[in-house]
Amino acid sequence: MLKLLLPDFYITDIFEIDFDYLKKKGIKAILIDLDNTLMPWNSDEVNTELIDWIARGREKGFRFCIVSNNFAKRIINCSEKLGIPAATGAFKPGRKIFLKGMEITGTSPAETAFVGDQLFTDVLGAKRVGITVILVKPISEKEFFWTKLVRRLEKKLIKTMEEKGLLKKF
Ligand SMILES: [Mg+2]
Repeated sequence: MLKLLLPDFYITDIFEIDFDYLKKKGIKAILIDLDNTLMPWNSDEVNTELIDWIARGREKGFRFCIVSNNFAKRIINCSEKLGIPAATGAFKPGRKIFLKGMEITGTSPAETAFVGDQLFTDVLGAKRVGITVILVKPISEKEFFWTKLVRRLEKKLIKTMEEKGLLKKF
């Protein structure tokens, strides 16, 4: 179980992602969670730093796709604002939404990385389909009430992983 919850990388935010390293490893696409990974929870705030980051990734040849459990309307709105397609109609940690994402990016699990901020939806789901998982710290503490409850357990697990030296940065 712990193995399925262990991310390949654990970093502060998306800006720490080493595009060159991923490229060397054969990664061609980045599936990415929306809330508290790309943008604060339920916020429409798109800053230039984020737009630049996406542009830099594209210049390196990466394809992006949003994989989010939020409402379709919000996902579509953000997808348009960011200029990134989104996989919809299924939910993490189910496999289906990740498979849909890879269908959009046209990549295999070995060629795909996923970035998210939650262990039990993001990391678990992406691990189940065998893709490289990058866990980021949530952008803000604002979130769905259920997520707040789950965070307590998540924090304990992350602490244990840290103490065992299982978490690595780029
Ligand atoms: Mg999230």
